[in-house]
This record gives sequence, structure tokens and C-alpha cells, in this order.
Amino acid sequence: MTKNTNLARAITDRRDDLIALTQDLIRIPTLNPPGRDYRAICEYLDRRLRGSGFETELIRARGTPGDSDKYPRWNIVARREGGQPGDCVHFNSHTDVVEVGHGWTKDPFGGELIDGKIYGRGACDMKGGLAASIIAAEAFLATHPTFSGAIEISGTADEESGGYGGVAYLAEKGYFDPARVQHVIIPEPLNKDRVCLGHRGGWWAEIETFGEIAHGSMPFLGDCAVRHMGAVLTEFEDKLYPAMAARHTDMPVVPEGARSSTMNINSIHGGQPEQDDDYTGLPAHCVPDSCRIVIDRRFLAEENIDDVRGEVKALLEGLKASRDRFDYDLREMNVVLPSMTDRDAPVVQVIAAEIEKTLGKPAEFVASPGTYDQKHIDRIGKLKNCIAYGPGILELAHKPDEYIGVDDMIDSAKVMAGALSTILMS
Ligand SMILES: [Zn+2]
Repeated sequence: MTKNTNLARAITDRRDDLIALTQDLIRIPTLNPPGRDYRAICEYLDRRLRGSGFETELIRARGTPGDSDKYPRWNIVARREGGQPGDCVHFNSHTDVVEVGHGWTKDPFGGELIDGKIYGRGACDMKGGLAASIIAAEAFLATHPTFSGAIEISGTADEESGGYGGVAYLAEKGYFDPARVQHVIIPEPLNKDRVCLGHRGGWWAEIETFGEIAHGSMPFLGDCAVRHMGAVLTEFEDKLYPAMAARHTDMPVVPEGARSSTMNINSIHGGQPEQDDDYTGLPAHCVPDSCRIVIDRRFLAEENIDDVRGEVKALLEGLKASRDRFDYDLREMNVVLPSMTDRDAPVVQVIAAEIEKTLGKPAEFVASPGTYDQKHIDRIGKLKNCIAYGPGILELAHKPDEYIGVDDMIDSAKVMAGALSTILMS
């Protein structure tokens, strides 16, 4: 029997272990915000990976956004040396999950197994991927006790809120230095037959329009900030949205709709703050003197961040010139530049070959509409040989009744283990 048949069997033999591991991870409710139970999940992973011969480090990202004694940003990096010099393959998973939201028919932190699917918040995004990578590494180690190079597995905080207390922090501390790590696989839920090369960029900003407070019965004595914001939104509808829709990228972004530039209006607030539900009174009569929106602009590799900013600024300046008493403030909140790994990069080639071997069909190459931690590995770590590859259906992420298919985890664990075999046994 060949080594690779042994390796595939070592993974199918671990099916029950894979299920239990995924359930255990789901049952630790690592909600972000606020960033709950990061220490607990790191300690769980620490026990597990030490048991498999890894050396581990628990690292708190002190001073990063959200880090506090109540909600410390803990991360784990585990490394297993092969005994001979060679490349290091790193699997990076975020341990945080987003809020539960409404509409669940299953316990979001129960990890129930029903008809080959494990349910729970984070099942597909991305505790299933983390579990698959651990099983892949353990099966590889059992089948290939000596190898060249090293395997690393990290569990990191805060991906869902930007990754600053997780991968960005580790990258700043040198954990993704190309001298230490040569291949990075992020098991985000991009489907087991796809290699994700990168992601679009993002620009988040708050726009505020100003007015003047007055009695609501005499609005002409004041100036309504909400009407000014209405003018901003009209400009967006008439000019910005058609312009964005006309731009198309060569990045293989899925779903198709995200191959154009997009912008979400994340929120709008104007006038008096909303009162608590138990308030039974009526609103006071006031002209609002402030209105704020948060925009979430996603841009393409072909677009330049200065142009993205400039386009919005030009519309606002146009209103300032043409509209009576219009004034505004534009505050940038965050920027993420697009990231794309070359299709010829070694980790891309190796994973694509293993997908074809395991699933019997060619790999699909995609890019993600939203950003993920690859941005920090690319920009801060300066490590370009990085992809996202993992089990799970992207569209289930952040939805009610999120689940991960056990067979999908098994298949992608075979792909990951095959990649370890190709890179570390050569
Ligand atoms: Zn994710």
C-alpha cells in the first residue's frame, strides 16, 4: 500500500475524533465582540496539540483593540519540527465567531450532529476548518514520523473584527516572517474544491452632515442635517452606484456579483437618539443638527485606494459647492488593501494538485468578496505564499443554523494532509 493510501486511511479512521473535536470547539462560545473565551479555546488547543507532539506558545495581544483584562486577546501558535531542515507549512484559523442572531432552530453552541452535519455558530466559519487541519496534521504525523521542515498550527483572535488582536499582532512579532514560515493555508470556508487566492479591498468611513437645531414647527429657522444626508444618498444613487457597477475585476471573485465594486450603507443615525423600548412618551420637536452614516466600500485590485476615497470626497465637495448650507465631515475608519497570491505560487499549485487527486476534478480558483487574515500575512508578514483553503459553504457563514458537513471536512483534511506530504517529504 502506498504512503498516500495510508494517509487517506489515517484520516477516515479519525472520523469520530474529527467530529468530537469540531463539537468541542463549537461548544466554547468564542463570541466576538466582545471576544469571549479566547483563553479557554487556546488552552483546549494547547492540550490537544501538545498531546500530538507540538510545542506551543500562548500569546496575548496586549494593547490591541478590544484587549482588556476582562476580554484578553489570546492566541496560540503550535510548532512541530520534522527533524531535518525544510519548509514550514502553517495552518492559520481564527477562533472567534460572530454573534448568533435570530432564526436558529438548533442550539448555536450545542454542536449537534444531524445527518452528517455539525451545527453551531462557527461550525463552517471556521472551527470545522481548524478541526480538519488538526486532523490532517495528526494523520500526517502518524503516517510520516520523520519529515523535513516543520508544521505549524495557529488559533488566532479577532478575525471577525479585523484581526488586529490576532494575525496582525503575530505578524508584527515575526511569526509570519518568510524566514520562519514558507507556506500558509487559512482553512476559511471557501468550499473543499476551491483555492482562494485573495480578497478585495475595503474602505470604511463615517460621513456626518451638519445642520442647526430649531423648533420642529419652524424648520426654516434651523437647518435639517437629515435632509443634507438625503442629498448625499441621492448623489450616491445617481452617480456612485452606477459608476461602481460598471467596474469589473479580473480577480476570480465569488459570488459573481462581487466582481464589481460594491458599497453598503452600514448604518444611518440622525436627530434624537432612539429611546428605550419601555419609553412611552412622544418625541420632542426638533430639527436635527447632525446625521451620520457609515459606509463599507469594497474595491477591486484594479482600483486605487486614493481614487476610492477621492470619488466619495468629490461628491461631497460637489454638494458643498452647490447646496445651500451643506457642510460635512468625512472620517476614515479603516482601510484594507486587496491581496492576491500568484496562481503559480507553490502553495497554490500543491493544494490544487491535491484537490484534483482527492476529488477527481480540477480545482477552481477564486477570490473572496470580503477580507480575511491573508491581508496581514501579506502586508505585515511580507509572506506572499498564502491562500485560503478549507471545508464549508461560504454562504452559510454568519447565518442561522450554520453547519459543516463531516464528509467535506474529511475530504479537505485529505487535501491538507496530501499537501503536507508533498511539501515535507520531498
Ligand atoms: Zn472566517
